[in-house]
Amino acid sequence: MTETANIRFVLVAPSHPGNIGAAARAMKNMGFGDLALVKPQRFPDPQAEWRAAAATDVLEKTRVFNRLEDAIADCVLVAGTSARRRSLPWPTTDVERFAAQATAETGPGPVAVVFGRETSGLSNEELQHCHVHVAIPADPAYPSLNLAMAVQIVAYELRKATSAAEPPTTSGDVGWDRAPATAAQTAALLAHLERALFAIDFQDAKAPRQTMTRFKRLFARVRPDETEVAMLRGVLTHIERAARNPVPSRTITSK
Ligand code: SAH
Repeated sequence: MTETANIRFVLVAPSHPGNIGAAARAMKNMGFGDLALVKPQRFPDPQAEWRAAAATDVLEKTRVFNRLEDAIADCVLVAGTSARRRSLPWPTTDVERFAAQATAETGPGPVAVVFGRETSGLSNEELQHCHVHVAIPADPAYPSLNLAMAVQIVAYELRKATSAAEPPTTSGDVGWDRAPATAAQTAALLAHLERALFAIDFQDAKAPRQTMTRFKRLFARVRPDETEVAMLRGVLTHIERAARNPVPSRTITSK
């Protein structure tokens, strides 16, 4: 096998085991072997093995998760593939540009590419776990590809980008002083932020329900490093403490 980038392919709730097998084959053909499934309807399954052909070794080491968060926890860049634009604009790119970015950034940790259900794709909530949304530019009249074929195209673009790329460096973000935060670290920051906002009675009067979604999008765009996440969590801890025990001299009283 030739050298390929550290990419994890994540299939969310696939319903047809044949697609899982075909995806494993598509990956192996392009030199990839890290497949993760989130709540597959049927797996393991003889149909998956049959469609995998000589890629059953990929299926044997495929990991199954109950939650998307767990499948991507250690990843430093998470991309969600989608044929459709969603209501809230999110950083979006096409598969070729994404492949160039992903191969450049797999130094510090794995990159995840997430694929959705055959019937309904990825939910908005699942897409909000992703730094970037990736589209295969198909005919707008019918842009929705078969799941395994979408995996094939993404894997092929990633392979092309890997062979075109400079030799891998130890850090994906060359010249940056800290490692990028993993998906799990950013998720923990967002959960902490939500608790702190609750503790200080923060409310967005205009769009209360969208507040956390907008914060998720902010951090997806910024892609903070580990130290920035740790710093922000330190600030949140102090905010929570101050909310519990207001220091009298600092309390603002309105008369
Ligand atoms: N009917 C669903 C599409 C499901 S296709 C919908 O409208 O959302 C199954 C999966 O294949 C998608 O969730 C996505 O991960 C991938 N896929 C299919 N077509 C794609 C495209 N044009 N660009 C990016 N991903 C695509």
